[in-house]
Amino acid sequence: MTAVLAISAAVYLFLPRACQDKTELVEISRPLMGTLFTVKVYSDSPDQAREAIEKSFAAANRLQKILSAHDAESELSSLNDAPYGVPFHVSGELSRALALSLDYAEKSGGAFDPTLGPCIRLWKKSRSRLELPSREELDKARAASGYGKLVLSSQTAVKSVPGMRLDLGGIGKGIAADGMAVRLVQEGFPVFCISTTSDVLAGDPPPGRDGWHVAFDTGEHRREKQSVILSRAALSTSGDRHQSFTIGGTLYSHIINPKTGLGLTSPDNNSAVTIMSPTAAEADALATACRVLSPLESKKLLTRFPGSKKIH
Ligand code: AMP
Ligand code: MG
Repeated sequence: MTAVLAISAAVYLFLPRACQDKTELVEISRPLMGTLFTVKVYSDSPDQAREAIEKSFAAANRLQKILSAHDAESELSSLNDAPYGVPFHVSGELSRALALSLDYAEKSGGAFDPTLGPCIRLWKKSRSRLELPSREELDKARAASGYGKLVLSSQTAVKSVPGMRLDLGGIGKGIAADGMAVRLVQEGFPVFCISTTSDVLAGDPPPGRDGWHVAFDTGEHRREKQSVILSRAALSTSGDRHQSFTIGGTLYSHIINPKTGLGLTSPDNNSAVTIMSPTAAEADALATACRVLSPLESKKLLTRFPGSKKIH
């Protein structure tokens, strides 16, 4: 028997209700990183499973305190507020997240770019005012962006231009999900599924199943769905169902087109893109990148990531 256990804007999970005798499904949701994270674990010791899930949320909260550009107290915000041209000491976790992000930026030719912070900030202002930025504001934001302008070593980051700001919104949820998974496995709970409104990371399959049944959005504005069976793999959808807006008759995305510094517009982007990868961070970054790139460019990018594929 199949039951819908969680419905989110972009990802729907269907799980078997009838499981092995003593095995129970434990499910906990918490708001995190601007979305809702849900963790499901099958276990014959539900109390310990609950504890393990709480530990995984604690790990994600810690990552949020490091990686979030929205939390004024985060380590990333301190780096954003630091002067340019001066080495800023970064923790091992931030250094690893930035190095990973720069690698996706280089390989995607900047389609995914963690240094688009100034453009993302400006675009948020446009979104709230429903007004395009001025040429001057846009030129300034674009001059302060660009992954080649961040110089990273294992312990320091140097912003080489004034106004530079990092934004890990296109990969942070994935990094958090991977961190949560490590914790669940360490605690002895490998049968898990972690999901947000756009990302899913599945551990071992539920008892008696081949994997976790996951449905994801395929249509930008229509409620079209496709489903897959996921086990020990991640899925990420980059789309705009709740995030697009119109200025002057043009529909814009919340995803920045690095070539213009503005949100993607309909002719230069695909509708929702879904990527399956071995890690949630990779799925998250590549989904954002493939959203920016044309289908042909996406195909070329994915040849560099043999473990990943575009499933929509
Ligand atoms: P996602 O939903 O994973 O595609 O990520 C969207 C978020 O990533 C946005 O809200 C921004 O914070 C950030 N972002 C927007 N455009 C880009 C881009 N081209 N590269 C990297 N991050 C981006
Ligand atoms: Mg993403």
